[in-house]
Amino acid sequence: MAIRKTMVAGNWKMNGSLELVTQLSNAVNSVKSNEIDIVLFPPFPLVPALVDSGVTTGTQTLSENTPGAFTGEVDAQLIKDLGAEYVLVGHSERRSIYKESNATVAAKFARAQQVGLTPILCIGESESEQENGQTEHVVAAQIDAVIEKLGVAALKHSVIAYEPVWAIGTGKTASPEQAQAVHKFIRDKIASLDSDLAQGLTILYGGSVNEKNSELLFAQPDIDGGLIGGASLKADSFTAICNSAKGTV
Ligand code: PEP
Repeated sequence: MAIRKTMVAGNWKMNGSLELVTQLSNAVNSVKSNEIDIVLFPPFPLVPALVDSGVTTGTQTLSENTPGAFTGEVDAQLIKDLGAEYVLVGHSERRSIYKESNATVAAKFARAQQVGLTPILCIGESESEQENGQTEHVVAAQIDAVIEKLGVAALKHSVIAYEPVWAIGTGKTASPEQAQAVHKFIRDKIASLDSDLAQGLTILYGGSVNEKNSELLFAQPDIDGGLIGGASLKADSFTAICNSAKGTV
C-alpha cells in the first residue's frame, strides 16, 4: 500500500500582515519535520515574504486563464515564479461568494497543473445538502468535474480537502467518524478508477479544526491531515495542530 504524506495547511483567508508572516513562519519553522508537510496560504501580497521565510507557500486561488485582459486576476505562472508550490481551488467561499462552478474549479485545477503548481481541490456539501442526505452526491460531482476534464490520473499530483460547508468557521466540526465516512467514500470512489492512486492520495479534513479536536480527526485511517482556517492565524494553536498530525500515518 502506498504511503501517504500527512499535511497541515493554513488558510489565512483575507487576513494577515507582514507581522503575522514573521510570527507564523517562526512558529512553523520550529515544528517542521519530515513526517508532515506544512503549507501556509496567505493573501497574494504576502507570498514573497512567506516564501523568503522558508515556509512552503500556496495561494488561495488563481486565474483559470492565461495572461491577458483580466483585471484583478492573478496568473498561475506568476504565482509559481514567486516561489509558491500549492494553490487552493474551489474553496467553499470561492464557490458561494464568487459563484465558481464545478467547471470553473476544474479549469483552475488544470491551469495550476499546467505550470507545475499542486492544486488542493476543496470539496464539501452545504448544511441543507447534508440534511437532505446529499453529501456523497455533492462531493462526487465536485470530483467528477475534474476527472471528466483531465482524467483520473490528474489527481495523482493533487491533494483533496473535504470541508463540509456547515463546519467552516462555525465552530461545528464533523465528528471523527462522520468525517472518516466521507473520506472513505472519496477514496473508494477514486479507487474504483485507480486503486494505487487512491491509496497514495492525501485527503485533508477542514472545518473548525483546532488544537482540541485535531488529534482524533487526524487519527482516522482516511484523514491525512487538515486544512485549517481560523486556528492557522494563531501560532500556538497552529503549531499544536501540526504536532498532533505527527505520527498519524
Ligand atoms: C477553511 O477556511 O478552509 C476552514 C476550514 O476554516 P475554519 O478552520 O475556520 O473552519
